[in-house]
Amino acid sequence: MGSLNTMVNKPHAVFLPFPAQGHINPMQKLAKLLHRKGFHITFVNTEYNHNRLLKSRGSDSLRGLPSFRFETIPDGLPVDPNHVDATQDIPSLCDSTSKNMLPHFKKLLWKLNNEDNDVPPVSCIVDDGTMSFGVEAGEELGVPVVVFWTASACGTMGYMNYRQLVDKGFTPLKDMNDITNGYLETTINWVPGMKEIRLRDMPTFIRTTDPNDILLNFFLRETKGAQKAHAILINTFDALDHDILEAFSSINNFPPVYSIGPLNLLLNHITDKDLNAISSNLWKEDSECIDWLDKQEPNSVVYINFGSITTMTNENLVEFAWGIANSNKKFLWVIRPDLVAGENAVLPPEFLEETKTRGMLSNWCPQEQVLGHPSIGVFLTHSGWNSTLESVCGGVPMICWPFFAEQQTNCRFCCKEWGIGLEIEDVRRDKIESLVRESMDGEKGHDMKKKALQFKKLAKEAASAPHGSSFQNVDKLIHQVLLSKS
Ligand code: UDP
Repeated sequence: MGSLNTMVNKPHAVFLPFPAQGHINPMQKLAKLLHRKGFHITFVNTEYNHNRLLKSRGSDSLRGLPSFRFETIPDGLPVDPNHVDATQDIPSLCDSTSKNMLPHFKKLLWKLNNEDNDVPPVSCIVDDGTMSFGVEAGEELGVPVVVFWTASACGTMGYMNYRQLVDKGFTPLKDMNDITNGYLETTINWVPGMKEIRLRDMPTFIRTTDPNDILLNFFLRETKGAQKAHAILINTFDALDHDILEAFSSINNFPPVYSIGPLNLLLNHITDKDLNAISSNLWKEDSECIDWLDKQEPNSVVYINFGSITTMTNENLVEFAWGIANSNKKFLWVIRPDLVAGENAVLPPEFLEETKTRGMLSNWCPQEQVLGHPSIGVFLTHSGWNSTLESVCGGVPMICWPFFAEQQTNCRFCCKEWGIGLEIEDVRRDKIESLVRESMDGEKGHDMKKKALQFKKLAKEAASAPHGSSFQNVDKLIHQVLLSKS
């Protein structure tokens, strides 16, 4: 794509991620990939996250490059300057972003096109699926907009069927007891590409009795808005999600879907130091854990990490601790500073004493590197999509404890469709101990490892030049959509 490389003629993609770690990470990977393919990039962070990044990583990580620039706009929530290092309240953030950000985003687009003389005119927008106001802004500007739905394919399909779930009377629930009385076990067979799926496997925002529930209505609106985009992108690969990907094309008037993952593998060949220095981790990584992993035997370590948003009670934390300790396995456990809701995580001193020679605790780690490390045997995860896909890329089976959103759907697919996961249904130390033992030493664990390694191989193939399905889809996306006239 040599002709794209003269500065003035570069196509210019504006990236608008939802301001949460699991959205920013894959968006930034795609931005880097398009940069390598000759695009000028504007990456838009919220002011809140920009300040967090400055605090956790310093200004170097946000300096960007002449043709990879950062801009900021407000998310509309009041800012407490003393408290800019915690996960924001998700319902408030969803409410605020959808109500308040559009005018700021339009103003930014105007500025990029009219005031910044050294940047080429905006030629396309890569919009987060949950920020569908970006589609409206792109329509007004007359440029193509693609929506990157950063969840899994199965999760995306779940959200896209929220309207049907409302119309068919499955949600709002009649009674909050429906969450525990077995109602969520109801099987629904009509969701395209999803066999034998139960209500409890659908993204969790249907678990409300309130027709005005913020998140239910947010997803009803965002899924509708996203379908006006020129294309929908999903960070997955055909060999993993063939049925669901095909099912999208059976939905009336649904935009074309491009499977463009795993993006971390597509980026593997990038050796540009300046581009690699750009980072989007909202917490500072502790890389000591890699030195520790280097000293461990292959497949010997349980890696525990619940991502950037999950919270739990301290009772849960203690049950996890003893379950892991009683399994007698080595472990790397990442405990985010705000993991325990409303308080500091407190681990029992006896646990710390007992495990000090076989456990490593950390606040935040370079997760992709960890999951690619040969010493990791199993990943105890909240089943966020990025974590799940990173585990697939590392060939690491999972023990799944889904927290919310489409993590339940991901868990179902890991355990039932792909055979690479075991679910924790009850956070009790004996259950956790036996799942850890089963996944590390048992027959199921052996099967899961075999399948996980097969998917690892398929993931690598999908991302390989020149014939990999995702490698080709990125080029198709560029030529069929991003470089087209709106
Ligand atoms: N992550 C990381 N270090 C950590 C924990 C998480 O780098 O210690 C990254 C992880 O690699 C993934 C993202 O944060 O890319 C979490 O996204 P995911 O979709 O798994 O979960 P979420 O945080 O959105 O619930």
